[in-house]
Amino acid sequence: MTDCDICKLIESKDAFKVIYEDDICLAILHESPSVSGHCLVIPKKHSTIIEETDDEVVEHIFVVANKVSSAIFDTLGAHGTNIVLNNGADAGQELPHVVVNVIPRKENDPLNLEWQPKQASQEELKTTSSMMKVYAEHIYSGKDKLPEVKIKKEEPAAEKEEGKKEDDYLVKGLKRMP
Ligand SMILES: [Zn+2]
Repeated sequence: MTDCDICKLIESKDAFKVIYEDDICLAILHESPSVSGHCLVIPKKHSTIIEETDDEVVEHIFVVANKVSSAIFDTLGAHGTNIVLNNGADAGQELPHVVVNVIPRKENDPLNLEWQPKQASQEELKTTSSMMKVYAEHIYSGKDKLPEVKIKKEEPAAEKEEGKKEDDYLVKGLKRMP
């Protein structure tokens, strides 16, 4: 038995406007939506944050979130969706149970989920990139079921992106030359 409010509500599903359910998760309409049609995809097995969630469940809830997003496009005439998981209290997570938000968006709607971009120095980007790469290799090394090809695909892409940024940086530098 858990003290989690969401787990308690899952047990008494009548409290929800359930729009989809299977063995692993359910999708409901948010009772206090950011906009009409705001849906939540909730795994049935309790986990507080995504790091504690089984890989199969993570995969499944995002597949379902994608389908819910398609339904929002088709039935509500949305122009876009935000698929958001607030992971941890400092990231805006309000209840201690993993939840994926699927939020319908329309042009000029009142929501604002954008952030102000700031300039990162090349040095900062390089340091952060190498720290993350080392850690990512460490995470994936123990996971047999994660195909190695996926990891290899990601790394050249990241390097290519870095290369591209450097190219852009050089081009900008050249343009500034008299
Ligand atoms: Zn729970």
